[in-house]
Amino acid sequence: MSTRYNGWVPLDIHRAIRIVRKENRQWRRPVVAHYTDTPFTVLISCLLSLRTQDKTTDAASERLFRLAKTPQAMNLLSPAKIRKAIYPVSFYRTKAANIKKICAILLKQYRGKVPPSIEDLLELPGVGRKTANLVVTEGFRKPGICVDTHVHRIMNRWGYVKTAMPDETEMVLRQKLPFRYWIGINEWLVTYGQNLCKPVSPHCSLCKVRPQCPQLGVTKSR
Ligand code: SF4
Repeated sequence: MSTRYNGWVPLDIHRAIRIVRKENRQWRRPVVAHYTDTPFTVLISCLLSLRTQDKTTDAASERLFRLAKTPQAMNLLSPAKIRKAIYPVSFYRTKAANIKKICAILLKQYRGKVPPSIEDLLELPGVGRKTANLVVTEGFRKPGICVDTHVHRIMNRWGYVKTAMPDETEMVLRQKLPFRYWIGINEWLVTYGQNLCKPVSPHCSLCKVRPQCPQLGVTKSR
């Protein structure tokens, strides 16, 4: 059972984010930050990352982008070649088929470019709000809030939101998270969540946010 730190004070979002960003310097950046050359590479690597570990996504993205890095070039690859390049990411058959469909749509409707709006991105096969927001923020450096499972979990542990699903978290954050944190929040909390504020048994004893964290929903910690 986790015990609340004696000197607990209410969470100050500015201070919490400042601490997280400083602590993150000791860890490797998450895979979402590795393929930001173009909106297309952000889109494809994010699709590959869904329900897949970072290490596997990283290797699969490398193999695929060695073959093709634009919708035009990727459209020329056979589904079998894409499948072989991205295996063993989860749902690799479906993801390969979606990548083919996406390339065809981009060429036909958007002159081979990735659209910069969340609404248009959501029309692409396999693209949900998390991916659409990541393309907008990391690919176009435009305002959006990508909510990965780590963002959803940590924001709820902090009590900054009280939500059941990541899409709901995004909507609440759009109302209350200071605008200057929108683009960066996903990468910062994914890094912190992968290394310290883990899903099961977070390392609360090592956490510098702890004095202001109510640890909501944490039943076991280290
Ligand atoms: S590791 Fe523990 S104390 Fe730190 S932010 Fe996560 S739940 Fe809060």
